[in-house]
Amino acid sequence: MLKKSNIPRPDSETGSKCLKIRAHHLCCIQGFQGYGYSPAFVVNLRAVIEDIKAFPSRSLELVSECDVICDSCPGKRECTAQVSIASRDIRNMDLVVMKKLKIEEGTIMEADKAFKLINSQLANASDVEDVCGACKWRQKCLWYLQEER
Ligand code: SF4
Ligand code: SF4
Repeated sequence: MLKKSNIPRPDSETGSKCLKIRAHHLCCIQGFQGYGYSPAFVVNLRAVIEDIKAFPSRSLELVSECDVICDSCPGKRECTAQVSIASRDIRNMDLVVMKKLKIEEGTIMEADKAFKLINSQLANASDVEDVCGACKWRQKCLWYLQEER
């Protein structure tokens, strides 16, 4: 049986809870097509996305460290290790996003505002390349592949 998601369930009692989200995951969430690092990872990511859709005004704390999506990822250990190349590279994606959005580590904003902001500020192909350039999921990611840019 797959592990239960670690995130708050989408019910009226949890709609005000703040979710910690890596800044670059604002992009990944929008590009998700059901692919991921493991079945448990996919289940958890789907639950995070459903929760945010159910509560578009949910507060998100935007960070450059492991978040509610990473919690079910088999790569979490490597991404948590301060000295690993993967950790440095992935954190750099978060920092690039924060710089482009002109926000600081730990900024809290409502989910729908965060998605509007990222889609307006990362508006051209070079911005997207700056964030996603090294990602292995590029050819399966709707956000990366979208043509309107
Ligand atoms: S290409 Fe990779 S890093 Fe970029 S949004 Fe998609 S999944 Fe995230
Ligand atoms: S690869 Fe790293 S940053 Fe990406 S979801 Fe897994 S633990 Fe999080």
